[in-house]
Amino acid sequence: MKKVLVTGGAGFIGANLCRRLLAEGSYVVCVDNLYTGRMINIEEFIGRTAFEFINHDIIEPLEIVGGIDEIYNLACPASPPHYQKSPIFTMKTCILGIINMLELATANHAKIMHFSTSEVYGDPYVHPQVETYRGNVNPIGSRACYDEGKRCAETLCFDYHRVHGTKIKVIRIFNTYGPGMDPADGRVVSNLIMQALKGEDITLYGDGKQTRSFCYVDDMIEGIIRMMASADEFMGPVNLGNSGEFTIQELAEIILEMIPTNSKITYQNLPKDDPVKRKPDLSLAYNRLNGWEPRISLREGLVPTIEYFKNIKNCDLNKK
Ligand code: UDP
Repeated sequence: MKKVLVTGGAGFIGANLCRRLLAEGSYVVCVDNLYTGRMINIEEFIGRTAFEFINHDIIEPLEIVGGIDEIYNLACPASPPHYQKSPIFTMKTCILGIINMLELATANHAKIMHFSTSEVYGDPYVHPQVETYRGNVNPIGSRACYDEGKRCAETLCFDYHRVHGTKIKVIRIFNTYGPGMDPADGRVVSNLIMQALKGEDITLYGDGKQTRSFCYVDDMIEGIIRMMASADEFMGPVNLGNSGEFTIQELAEIILEMIPTNSKITYQNLPKDDPVKRKPDLSLAYNRLNGWEPRISLREGLVPTIEYFKNIKNCDLNKK
């Protein structure tokens, strides 16, 4: 039985990944410090013989008794309000966290996948973003703790590979949504759906003309699994996401079409360094991951996502 470690396994993508890995017959060690991860995301796995939860912060070194075969390193606050709340902690999670996980991978001859981000492209001049584009990040801005932390983590992966021969995989994931999202994480999909469900004002930041590309979580998980199974010499970085591009205004209009509500669109200040546009070039993923491409359109994926949020009660929106 393959033994896999998922850091950030109680987060939105992490818990969806744990479910898939368990379904495939792996033994899953889920590590999370519950800073943004939530026990509710993993409670369905607790008690299963092939699942183990460790409450641990990857800023501290970690040893796994009996070793480990594969590591998925997701642990890091990922929504702008969360990662900006404690920027030094965010940076430590990115950098000390990946060093600790690379040490663990190297000592165990395990394969490690690092979850990088479209944020490494910053406010991009190249559109859509190809992996060879080196990005436009403000190194001293309020998003830098995450953007530069993730960039440095990519560097560390490749340096461990060059110095120690560590087996690495680096993916750059674009905005992802679906069941399991934290209703209070302050991101656009969760905010807008929750606002529409509660009949509150819809908060668009800036003029709403900035674009994002939204990937349904099941498509994302399939890409992740294929990347881990790909040949060792393919280390990435590779983009994973959905190339459908929407303005935030369009997203709001779709959500308002899908949820009967009295909510009205309002416009608020645009956060600093908010990227103007974002859309992945997915040709590398398609070519190297057996024709992987997202199958679920935004309108299709919003149906189960809205259902999920409808079932959540007594939650507050975390305003930016
Ligand atoms: N946004 C918005 N209203 C909200 C939350 C976010 O208009 O209530 C905007 C935000 O300014 C950004 C986009 O939606 O332009 C996506 O924001 P999110 O925090 O989801 O992710 P990002 O891609 O910025 O990391």
